[in-house]
This record gives sequence, C-alpha cells and structure tokens, in this order.
Amino acid sequence: MKQVIIATKNEGKAKEFKDFFEPYNINAVSLLELPDNIPDIEETGGTFEENAALKAETITDLLGTPVLADDSGLVIDSLDGRPGIFSARYAGETKDDQANIQKVLYELENVTTEKRTARFVCVLAISIPNKETIFCKGTCDGSIASFPEGEHGFGYDPIFVPKGYSKTMAELTPSEKNNISHRKNAIIQLEDWLKGIY
Ligand code: IMP
Repeated sequence: MKQVIIATKNEGKAKEFKDFFEPYNINAVSLLELPDNIPDIEETGGTFEENAALKAETITDLLGTPVLADDSGLVIDSLDGRPGIFSARYAGETKDDQANIQKVLYELENVTTEKRTARFVCVLAISIPNKETIFCKGTCDGSIASFPEGEHGFGYDPIFVPKGYSKTMAELTPSEKNNISHRKNAIIQLEDWLKGIY
C-alpha cells in the first residue's frame, strides 16, 4: 500500500484523512503514528495557505518525503471572519474545543439567525522534495446554531449547521460529514494529482 504523511497531531483530522484516502489504496500516516521526534510547528503565517505550507514544507525538509498538511478553520461573517486561522486556539493556548465553542456562542449572543452565516475552510498544501508546493482549497457553507448539539466530529462541529441541513455537523454520521465537508471539497481537487503521483 502507498503512503502519504499527514502533518497533523489532531486525532479528528487524522481519522478523516485516513477515511478519505482509503478508497485510493493510500495509507494516510499522521504524526501521531510516527516517532515522537517531530516538533510542533508554530503556525506563524497570516493565512490558511501560509500555515499549511509551513507545516508541509518543514516536515518534508525533516523527513525527505511527500507531506500533506491542512490548515483549516471556521470563518464567521458577523465576526469579520474570526476565529479563522486562530480557530484551534480561539479561547486560549490549551486548544479547548468546548471553550472555543462557548466563546463563539457568547460573541454571537445578540446576532440574529439570518446573520449567523459561516463557513468551514480547508487549505491543503502538498510538498514534495525539490518541487513547488501544491495548494487546494475547499469550503463548506452553513450557519452557527444557538447551542451545541451532537456527539460526532470535533472542534466546532456541535454548533455548525451545514447549509441545507437542520442539524449540526456533530449530529451527522462521520461518513455523512465526510461527504460534504470542507476537507472533502479540498481533497477531491487532489484526485488528478493522486492518480499522477501514486
Ligand atoms: P489547525 O490545526 O490549525 O488547522 O486548526 C483547525 C481548527 O479549526 C480545529 O482545531 C477546529 O477548532 C477547527 N476545525 C477545522 N476543521 C474542523 C471540522 O471539520 N470541524 C470542526 N472544527 C474544525
């Protein structure tokens, strides 16, 4: 089986990438499965693209192999795009999903249903030794619920209602989420690349 390194230590993301790549007969190996000597890479970029490239290229330099990194987050219109690239640590460095959700709900307390529009964004960067990094972007439109609901997924899923649905992302089954998610919409753009390289 072929393999690609996925530059993440986030268990939720790692599982989703494994499921996405399985039909291509590609084993997506996350940093959680590699020896613990890969340092955490500081996301010092100002855009999803810069952060994704930073993660992918740093690990390609370390390991000398192709690496796919994603930088993703929640963009809320009435908060001028926040939390955006700061999604993971919106309520502090502990990267606490519950605290992040509570902070968003607090900030949207007086915002009406129609103005709670938002989207998940995922940018993928694929870096290959001695080649230019490739980028793909996917989004998933929706709105922010008034309270958390559902047990599946991770991050902001319990408060994100995808467009056309009346339940949150966390109430969808993993395969339902994987069919409509921002990560799926980014990954399908990789199909040609996957066929060519692998
Ligand atoms: P990253 O690791 O810097 O890309 O941080 C991404 C953060 O965005 C995660 O920690 C979550 O808070 C949020 N996020 C990204 N994708 C999703 C998703 O599919 N569901 C819920 N939250 C997400």
